[in-house]
Amino acid sequence: MALDHDTFLIGGEWVPASSAHRSTVIGASTGEVLGTSPEGMEADVDAAVAAARRAFDDPDGWSGWAPRDRAAVMRRLADALDARREEITRLVSSENGMPITLSLGLEGTVPSTLLRYYADLVTEAPVEEHRDGLLGRPVLVRREPVGVVAAITPWNAPQTLAAGKYAPALAAGATLVIKPSPETALDAVLFAEAVVEAGVPAGVVNVVPAGREAGAYLVGHPGVDKVSFTGSSAAGRSIAEVCGRLLRPVSLELGGKSAAIVLEDADLDSEAIRQELVAATLLNNGQACFASTRILAPRSRYDDVVDAMSALASSLTVGDPLDPGTHVGPLASERQRERVEGYIAKGRAEGSRLTAGGGRPAHLDRGWYVEPTVFADVDNKQVIAQEEIFGPVLVVIPYEDERDAVRLANDSDYGLGGSVWTRDAEHGLEIARRVRTGSFGVNHYMTDPVAPFGGVKASGLGRELGPEGLAGYQQLKSVYL
Ligand code: NAD
Repeated sequence: MALDHDTFLIGGEWVPASSAHRSTVIGASTGEVLGTSPEGMEADVDAAVAAARRAFDDPDGWSGWAPRDRAAVMRRLADALDARREEITRLVSSENGMPITLSLGLEGTVPSTLLRYYADLVTEAPVEEHRDGLLGRPVLVRREPVGVVAAITPWNAPQTLAAGKYAPALAAGATLVIKPSPETALDAVLFAEAVVEAGVPAGVVNVVPAGREAGAYLVGHPGVDKVSFTGSSAAGRSIAEVCGRLLRPVSLELGGKSAAIVLEDADLDSEAIRQELVAATLLNNGQACFASTRILAPRSRYDDVVDAMSALASSLTVGDPLDPGTHVGPLASERQRERVEGYIAKGRAEGSRLTAGGGRPAHLDRGWYVEPTVFADVDNKQVIAQEEIFGPVLVVIPYEDERDAVRLANDSDYGLGGSVWTRDAEHGLEIARRVRTGSFGVNHYMTDPVAPFGGVKASGLGRELGPEGLAGYQQLKSVYL
């Protein structure tokens, strides 16, 4: 049965959309309609920003509450999300093709984990700090909420990526207008229901799924104090331009093309390492911003690494994202599959050697599936080695020595993730120190709520997660006493 919605969560109410524009959400594994949602237009954005503004500017409201009172509401929201765990994870997997086991561990777990983490953090961390001044008078340094936040999120991990914004923002005392992608507008409604059930005060969280134009309108809206964006580097650039002109704080979590550096001594026969390699390189059907999709292999072991990665890719079970046995599900949309297939064609045209996949799986006649694909004989200058493909496509690039490996890892417009694979973890850490990136894994890669996450170069500005993520929603004020 299709899920059809008619309203947005604005000012604590289910408000009818201002226009008849609707988005249709198509199931990634079926190609069939999952449901429809109203598409936010400028008038809806105006209403949501006004509600967030009122909630923020109310002197007795959210921004003025004691941190422990905000934390209590956040814990209730965490409980309300946990109560919807199964429903949320199944819906996200149906929408975007995320394998259900990953969806349970990520979409069904991380949002409530982040809410509880930031609830604890904000009750423990003092909002005001006294310092002895050097000029004879004391100083008070205050951490005040940043104001109304425009939170714009993509479709690849919609619940998790939204939580990376609203959990610290709520802890800080900010209010939000959340704009989910139209591709995943349906699970956003489950989140909005949890917000209502948890008794989050009216206007503190407003949810308006909408397209790019309404997103751009929200970014430049006079009622917004900070923009927090996760998505493509192209959109991030145009958002940064607008925020630059407005002198509006902005954080940008953008694309990546990270490197997995396989060292001479890497144990590619170990089952544990093979599983970690799959997670680091092909997570979420390759639709993970931090995936290490460039495999750097020592020239001396090049054929070994190509064979191991190709065997690994070919061994994965491709199929229904709702089946717990599935490793690789479909891509999120037909458009996304066209994009990925375009890159596979480009890799072939550039003369690289296809050693696994390259086509659509023969046993699946519907849904946006692409086989896990590996290209060998790839030069780091090639398009498939430089541009973000955002699908299950790996390239194996040879290096001469470790200095060359680090040079190749750094020879990218991006700098978001990365990993090194070695029996000598100490030595792996040495490599980690030399790669220009925002995060890096030694023999595995997975982000952690306590550690700041974000990119350098075209991968973004600012950090989410950890105490640094909370600081992103606070403004400092010095009071000279
Ligand atoms: P996208 O940039 O097309 O869209 C992301 C969101 O921004 C959507 O909600 C979209 O409607 C909105 N949007 C697009 N253009 C906008 C504009 N000019 N102004 C305001 N809003 C705008 O990206 P996508 O295709 O949905 O997501 C995939 C991209 O996201 C990949 O590049 C991926 O690497 C990146 N990503 C980054 C991270 C990270 O944490 N660094 C995490 C996940 C995804």
